[in-house]
Amino acid sequence: MKNITIAIDGHSSTGKSTMAKQLAKALGYIYVDTGAMYRAVTLFALQKGYIGPNVDKLDLLIPDLPLIHLEFRQNDALGYSEIFLNKVNVENKIRTLEVSRFVSQVSVIKEVRHKLVILQKEMGVKKGLVMDGRDIGTVVFPDAELKIFMTATPEIRATRRYKELLDRGADISFEEVLENVQQRDYLDSNREFSPLRKADDAVVLDNSTMSPEQQFQKAMSLAEDRINTP
Ligand code: C5P
Repeated sequence: MKNITIAIDGHSSTGKSTMAKQLAKALGYIYVDTGAMYRAVTLFALQKGYIGPNVDKLDLLIPDLPLIHLEFRQNDALGYSEIFLNKVNVENKIRTLEVSRFVSQVSVIKEVRHKLVILQKEMGVKKGLVMDGRDIGTVVFPDAELKIFMTATPEIRATRRYKELLDRGADISFEEVLENVQQRDYLDSNREFSPLRKADDAVVLDNSTMSPEQQFQKAMSLAEDRINTP
């Protein structure tokens, strides 16, 4: 059976990573969450004090980029890989609303994107991989055999994210989450380098009214179709 590359892009909180993980598991492929990479760089900038409420010293991040070492390590108990920033597991720390608030400012930086895109391309040389993000089908793997662009209404996405954050014990309001979702949509779609946009040959999956099972079945049949195409 031939190995393909599957690129999943789309808006924030559309369930890209849940679906990408399911696909990777079903196909025996590697899963790479590129959002986690941008989030880890953002965490580094927060820890260094280069960004924060009323702080913007992000120009200091650029000379520090060679000091940032990112690595995914498989956690067999969980069944997926976790991200390590300079040898420290930061999988939980990168999911906070604080990191979500600043990540779009870090991901506009050309030098940050350059570094991360090189790493992402390296991870995909052998194919047999599902990668999710914002620019996978347009920039990282423009030749991917299957490209899916996921979307849903901002309110539905914020509701899902809000529940997830409450489950993690966060103290936030629905309005704050909705505002973050809308702000990230705007910043991700309007940035100068690699803005979020659907690749011309991507299949749109609007899951506003789809169950996770329905969307997985749809994605799986698309993947099987591409795998069986000579
Ligand atoms: O996918 P997730 O919501 O975790 O991504 C967090 C942020 O990382 C996005 O809002 C976007 O700013 C940035 N990102 C990106 N390019 C990618 C993946 C994520 O700019 N390929």
